[in-house]
This record gives sequence, structure tokens and C-alpha cells, in this order.
Amino acid sequence: MPKFLFMTGGVASSVGKGITVASIGRLLKSRGLTVAIMKLDPYINVDPGTMSPFQHGEVFVTDDGAETDLDLGHYERFTDEATSHASNVTTGQVYAAVIGKERRGGYLGGTIQVIPHITNEIKGRIRALAQQTSADVVIVEVGGTVGDIEGEPFLEAIRQLRNDAGRDDVMFLHVTLLPYIGATKELKTKPTQHSVKELLRAGIQPDVILCRSDYPVSDDIRDKIALFCNIERRAVIPLVTASTIYEVPLMIEEAGLGDYLVEKLGLASVVHEPELGDWQALVERIGEDKPTVRIALVGKYIELHDAYLSVAESLDHAGWSLGANVEIDWIDSQKLETDWDEYEPRLAAAAGIIVPGGFGSRGIEGKIKAAQYARTHNIPYLGLCLGLQVAVIEFARHVLGLEGANSSEFDPEALDKVIDLMPDQRDLTDKGGTMRLGQWVCCLTPGSKVAQAYGEQIVFERHRHRYELNNAYRRRLEEAGMRISGRSANNNLAEIVELEDHPWFVGTQFHPEFKSRPTRPHPLFKGFVAAALKGMKLTPRITIAHEGEHRDHSSHNGHHKVTAESLGETR
Ligand code: GLN
Repeated sequence: MPKFLFMTGGVASSVGKGITVASIGRLLKSRGLTVAIMKLDPYINVDPGTMSPFQHGEVFVTDDGAETDLDLGHYERFTDEATSHASNVTTGQVYAAVIGKERRGGYLGGTIQVIPHITNEIKGRIRALAQQTSADVVIVEVGGTVGDIEGEPFLEAIRQLRNDAGRDDVMFLHVTLLPYIGATKELKTKPTQHSVKELLRAGIQPDVILCRSDYPVSDDIRDKIALFCNIERRAVIPLVTASTIYEVPLMIEEAGLGDYLVEKLGLASVVHEPELGDWQALVERIGEDKPTVRIALVGKYIELHDAYLSVAESLDHAGWSLGANVEIDWIDSQKLETDWDEYEPRLAAAAGIIVPGGFGSRGIEGKIKAAQYARTHNIPYLGLCLGLQVAVIEFARHVLGLEGANSSEFDPEALDKVIDLMPDQRDLTDKGGTMRLGQWVCCLTPGSKVAQAYGEQIVFERHRHRYELNNAYRRRLEEAGMRISGRSANNNLAEIVELEDHPWFVGTQFHPEFKSRPTRPHPLFKGFVAAALKGMKLTPRITIAHEGEHRDHSSHNGHHKVTAESLGETR
């Protein structure tokens, strides 16, 4: 029988519930337990695959091709365990299943209600994950905030599950926010108390409360929360804002949460001492003073950095493993298109250029310009999915001289559709879940840059696209120096392109960012960042001042900017 941990959130959203869940997974795994994590999302979409990145942030893709919430990326990065279709359940999926069964006559004339039909479907899906993974502990994050109308069936389902599974096998954890009142310089616990009351209304008494705060949480505050919320003092865990998310597992371990959970779940006899040495080394590496390498990320959803979450994380992982901090310069591809003179210096100042995935024609010409700039200025380039496609369009236009080259996604009438719809996509009308999704094998060309980077000839990578390189142009591209260095198993699909006479110009039809881990950076990100660092040593880039935003934890501590001088090899 697995144990279950249910995590709810209160007071406000965006308090780091996903990262906390992922961190708990890490702590349990570090004690020798097997862990599976899932997220219950109360929205009515079947999955986030059809949502705008502005609404939802990144769509994380699993090995088995599920389009899921970005929190699953945190789960995978922190626990290094693959998630699957079963790991993300939405209200849309639950209702679709129940209504489908009703239409098939599966309820034998019964009246279909939230309790028990919807709640049973939710419980069934939680149990399905437990069964599929045979994990010792199943951790379930309930999306949204306690008090949301659409979250109620989920709370009811987990309340029932404690009775079904046995009281000793289930724990409820609750993350809240302690607001700070500047005038009186104090943290307030009242919203937490109200949030717990709201949970009690649903029949759930939390066993652990994690308090997110921008300030240290005193023992008095912990006592107060313990008293009013009816839990042990050692079950009140401060979650003080960290300089990097990767510090959270160590923080909550230090606060005693790992031991507390193991004790209360009755697992003390089956675990070993936590092995967190590699994680500790990671956090130390992150905190070290080290040079900064600036990477220009050219995309059209840059106002919301979460839209590129796994890409940004992968750059960090690669940078840290190479002894550098990556600073991302977020460049709006549409502005690059219209205000080239203003934005070109930012590309010039970058040690590497990355064009991540995307959909639709807005901002495309800006991305094509970025690829051209990288190619013609020998700046390391990494194109991810759409980033490969724009690199091929650019090469076809300016090297092969096919001025009308384009993707049929952006111009269905294009003269040369060097990127075209995959044949099995042509007759599809439904948008949800119909792309080429999930993990596929990719065969690397021996001797290519990517084969060298991976150190392997066969790799598995995750996809999410409808279009691909048009094979009618393969030969001409290759003859002109754009090498197909990764292919699908039957050689039908070009999965990777790279330029021969360039320090590092690689485009992938897949998304390597989904497989990078903080302690195991992805070879292609590592190759890209290493090339960027090497380029900085050889060619000092201009330093410019601009108002680009940077991610909090990659630019913290006032780390010095790398100039050629700081690396000691100016030419
Ligand atoms: N829009 C492109 C396609 O569907 C690229 C998708 C992506 O970047 N994930 O093929």
C-alpha cells in the first residue's frame, strides 16, 4: 500500500507550491523511497496544450507525450523521475471521462453527480498513478488556492481518500503565505488561520503547514500557527524566499520536514539517512562567485518568463556545470523585426543566441534575423523546434538563394516550403493533443558536433510540433553546408541540423530542455553554453547597457559580468 501526501495552497497563488512538492519528493527519494508526484488542475481545459503561453506559461511535455502543467517540470528536475499522462489530471479530463461513460450507458440509469461520480473519477486517477508507478509515496499537488469554487471536488476527493486509504497512510500539507507589514515590521498569521478554517470547512485538518515568507519566521510565529491551526510546532515549516529554487530541499530538510513525514507515515524502519551530498554540492556551485555569460533568448512570449521555464532552467544547469552564471537577455522577436537598429546591439553583445519553440507567424521574421545574425557573426546558436525551423528558412533564403522560402505554417502559398506540415497532420481538424508529441528515437550522424556532445549515437528526445523540414530540400541544404546530424529511426524526419563551418550552430526539432536536470545538464545545452564561453574568450563582445530584465536567481549577488578581460584571454 502506498502512502499519500496531499498538498494544498492557501492565502495566495504563486507561493511556490510546485517547488515545495518537488522538494519533498527529493527528500523522500534521498532516503531510499520511491516517489511519484502528480498535479490536479481545477481548470476545465482538458490540458494546457491549447492554452496561450501568456495564460499558462510553458507546456511541459512528458516522455509519453502528455502536454502538462509546468510544475511537472519542477517535479522531474527535482526528483529525476519521469512523469507521464497519469501525472496531470484536470477538471476537463475528469468530466470528459464521466460524461463519456454516461453516454455509453455506463452508469446504468443513475443520476450523475459531483459526489460520488466526479470524486470517484478523481480518486480513481490518483490510485491509477499509485498502481502504475508502485511508488512508496504518492505526492499529490492540488492546483489553485483553497476557497476556489472549481477546486472543491478535488478537496472532497482527497478528504474521502484519507478514509479509504487509512488514516495512517495519508497526510495533508498546506502551503500559505505570511504577509509582512512594513509599518510594524511583523509577519501576520491571520490569513493562514483563515485559510486553515477554509480547509476545515472541507473536512480537512492539515498535518503540516509550510509558511512562505520573505522574512525569517520566528519561533513565536511558529508557536502561534501551531496553536491556532491545531498542529505540532515542529510541523510548522518556514519557507523563507531562497536565492535559488534549488535551495528549497535543503531548507526544508534543515527544518526537519523529511524526518517528520517519515515518522508520521510510519516509514522510519525502511528509510536510510538522507543522501543529499550531490544536491548540497549543486547549491554550493550555484552560490559561488563566477563569471556571467550572456545569452540572448529571442521569443515572442518574453514578458512572461515562465513561458520558457525549462529553457531558462536548462541554461542555468549547463552554466553551473561549466562554472558560469547564465544571464538571459530576453529579446522580443517582434521588436527585433521592426526596430532592428535598436535591438541589433543586444544580439551583438550576446555570447550565444537561442531561439526557443513557438507557434504562429507573429515575430517570425525577427527570429529569422536572429538566426541569420548568429550564422553570419559566428555566434553560437541553439534553435529549439521553431528555432530549427527558422534557421532552415534563413539558410534557404540567404545561402541557397530561395528568397521565397518559408514554412507553410506562416505562408501556405510560399514558393519554397522548406518547412512543411507532416503528412499525418494534413487531415487533422482537432487542435488538442494532436501534434507529434512525446519521446522519439533520434539517430545521430557519427562525427557530427551533436554526436560528440552527446557521446552517443542513439538518443531519445521529446517533441511537440506539426511541421518539419521538407525532405525535398535535404540534399541542397546538405550540399551547402547545413548538415542533417540527427534523423528519425526510419530516416524520414530530420531531427537535428548543424552548420559545418561555425563554432556551434545547432537546431533541434525536439525540445531538449525537457530532459535537462540540475545535476545532469543536457549535452546540447552544455555544448551551446561551452561554445558561448569559448567565444567570449576569443572575441570580446561589446558591452551595452539596456533595460532588459533578468531572472532573479541567475543575476543575484552582483556577480561580475564576463568580459574578455575577466577570462584573461583577450585578443
Ligand atoms: N510551430 C512549429 C510546429 O508546429 C514549432 C512548434 C514548436 O516550436 N514547439 O512545428
